[in-house]
This record gives sequence, structure tokens and C-alpha cells, in this order.
Amino acid sequence: MVLGPFKGGRDGKTVAIVAARTPTTFEIRTDLFTVENRKMSDGVQHHQQRSADLDAQAVTNFREYLRIPSVHPDINYDDCVKFLKGQASGLGLPYKVHYTTPTKPVFIITWEGTEPNAPSVMLNSHMDVVPVFEENWTHKPFGAEMDADGKIYARGAQDMKCVGIQYLEAIRRLKASGLRLKRTLHCSFVPDEEIGGSEGMFEFVKTDFFKSLNVGFALDEGMANDKDDFLLYYGERCIWHINFRCPGQPGHGSLLLENTAAEKVRVILDKIFDFREKEKQKLENNPEMTIGDVMTVNVTMLQGGVQSNVLPPEFSVMMDCRIPVTVDNDKWFETLNQWCKEAGKDVVMEKEQFDPFIPPTKLDESNKYWLAFKSATDKLGLKMTPRIFPGGTDSRYLRQLGIPALGFSPINNTPVLLHDDDEYLGRDVFLKGIEIYCKLIPAVANVASA
Ligand SMILES: [Zn+2]
Repeated sequence: MVLGPFKGGRDGKTVAIVAARTPTTFEIRTDLFTVENRKMSDGVQHHQQRSADLDAQAVTNFREYLRIPSVHPDINYDDCVKFLKGQASGLGLPYKVHYTTPTKPVFIITWEGTEPNAPSVMLNSHMDVVPVFEENWTHKPFGAEMDADGKIYARGAQDMKCVGIQYLEAIRRLKASGLRLKRTLHCSFVPDEEIGGSEGMFEFVKTDFFKSLNVGFALDEGMANDKDDFLLYYGERCIWHINFRCPGQPGHGSLLLENTAAEKVRVILDKIFDFREKEKQKLENNPEMTIGDVMTVNVTMLQGGVQSNVLPPEFSVMMDCRIPVTVDNDKWFETLNQWCKEAGKDVVMEKEQFDPFIPPTKLDESNKYWLAFKSATDKLGLKMTPRIFPGGTDSRYLRQLGIPALGFSPINNTPVLLHDDDEYLGRDVFLKGIEIYCKLIPAVANVASA
């Protein structure tokens, strides 16, 4: 009869203690050590086998998702929906599909919490990916090939099919461990992020269905980092696309007429490039700053002209402008108005895209989700570097509603290859990301609702 095993003995190893015939004496039978040890190591082996199986399944699911060419333009999302239905059923979780247009689905997999009335946590990812220049790739962009180093190559490997699968695989592990979380989790897979989300998240957040999800906090995409730390995005610059219309006196190209369109274009271009140079200097002179901290202005389209010897009635200059969270949008608008005045008669601005100011998500005591997020990443020993996102993501539509949202892709020590040729993610980094979410998701989902 084995009473043990007990941790004991001078070396702290497990000792099997067997009851003797009389209660006053013990004999320690060393021959049982091996039996007990074998049982224990069987347990460890079983555990290792199970986690190896989970890892293999995660990598398989990731690669399968990457093989769906949900690439712009004109994406057919049917295969994504089919794939995600399979994922939901494998996890034993309910799903819902909401179509923002007849061909654009938002797929939601839900794991209900023990406090289903508390605001939920949204785990967001987008299904679409940007086009590829296949001739520049050394692997098939939708082959999801894995090389000898474990690098998995595909469009979407970093941006951001990895994150969508990592959420699901973390949930698979949490469920298997018998854990229940307080708050409901909604894993959302949205279309069209890469073309601005106007028929994706932008439209989705306006629906009653979205309101019924009662989202209190969201995680969304971040970006890879080639260093050891992880980037954490808590805000975005505001996007303005402004078209400066410069009308002028039309006439013959052989004359010296007053008030011509091109002279006004010249002033506008000078203003833009003088300003651009200043921001460039600001960034170069301050190592603490990143591109998300400065204003970027770029000329993206020049239009006008009818014939080589004719002065046209109008030229126009399109400017892509990204406003950092530290700049007052109204004041910036006044500056642009001033540029128009200085450029000459009748120069006006046309707003093609004119996003409102969206306050960044607070990273302080007032944000209990951030505190939970931080304590989880601190415990994991992850170094987080907060940043303002240089481009736009779907998080802005959530922040606009006052929902705190953090952009985080658990990818470190990896070259930044989003939208680039030979986009890849290492198998180990991918699996490590699942472990990170296994701690992070419970932390934010167990934030007290009161
Ligand atoms: Zn993305």
C-alpha cells in the first residue's frame, strides 16, 4: 500500500513510503521509486504530448487560414466564412455572421463569460490582405510554406491572420484547462480593413448587432518589431486627404498672363514641402520620436492640363496628411486655410477624407483594462513600448465610440514585413504569441465590472 509519494529526503526527491506491518516502523522501499517516477514522467510526457498536439493543430490552422487568398481587390469571403465555421465548431462555440453588404461578412465567435451582462471583450482581426507582387516572392504567397527554420511564408502571416488564429488557439487552451472567464469574449473577423473599413468595421459599429455585443474593451492589431520589445499601439494619427484646387486664367501658352493656375500650385507645393522638411527634422533630431509622433504631409496626386500650349483653367494637388494626437485639428485646418489664401485668388480645399480627432486610449490608472493588460505583460516579463500607430486600423472606429482599444500583435525579434514581399512569421514566435494571449485574455476578461 503506497501512502506517498511525498516530497522529502535530503535531495528533495519524491520518496515512496510504504506502511509497515506494525504502525511504529516504516520501511522505505527504494524499488518503488522508479515506479512512482515513471508514473510522474508518464504524466509529464502526456502533458508534453498534449501541448505538442495543440501546437501542431495551431500551426495547421494558421497555415490553412493563410492559404485562403482573401486578397484585394474584389475579395470573395466565402472560404473565410467556411473556415471560421469549422473553427467555431471545433471549439464548441457559437458564431454569428453579419453582412455589412451582401458580400462582406463580419464573423463573430463568442465564448460567454460567467457574467454575461458585463461589458464584453472584443478580440478583433481582419480577414483581408493586401495584394502581392508574386514575382518578388521566393515562396508562393498563398502557399503558407514552412522552411527548415520554421518560417511560415504567406501574405497575412503578420498582418494579421496570425493574431486571429492566436486568439482562437488561446481560447482552445483556456477552455481545455477548465477555466471560465467573467466577461464574454467576442472574436470578430472583419472584412475590408485594408481598404479603410468603410464596408467593414466602420459600418459594423453602427449596427444594432454590434450594440448587442456590449463591447467594453478591444484588442486589435499592432505591428511586428525587429527588436526584443513588443509594440503597443494606443492611438492613431488622424487621416486627412485634402485636394487643393487651384483655378486660374486660361489662355495661350505663349503669353505672360496673370493669375495662372500653376503659380498657385507652386505656392501650395512650397508650403507642403517646407512643412514636411520641418517635421522630418523634428523626427531626425529626437531619438524618442517615431513616425506616429510627427505630422506627415505628402503629395499623392497632381491633376490638370489639357494640351501642351494651353494654360488650363485649373490644377489640383492632393495631399495625404496624418495628424498626430498632439496637434489641434482646428488649428491645423486654419493653417491650411491660410495656405490657400496665400496661394492666390479662389484657391480652395476639398476634403476627400477628413477624419475627426479621435482621443487615444488612456494608458493610466483610469483605464482598468490597461492596468490588467500591463500586469499580465509584466508578469510575463514582456517589455512593451507604447506607440501611436503610423497608419490607420479598425481600432479607430471603436475608440471613436469611446471604447478603449489596444493594438498589439505579439511579434518581436522579427523583421517588419507587413505589406512586403516574402511576408513571414516564425513558428516559434507564433506559438509564443498564443502563450502570451493565454495570460493576457484572462487578465482583461476578468477585470471587475463594477
Ligand atoms: Zn492589418
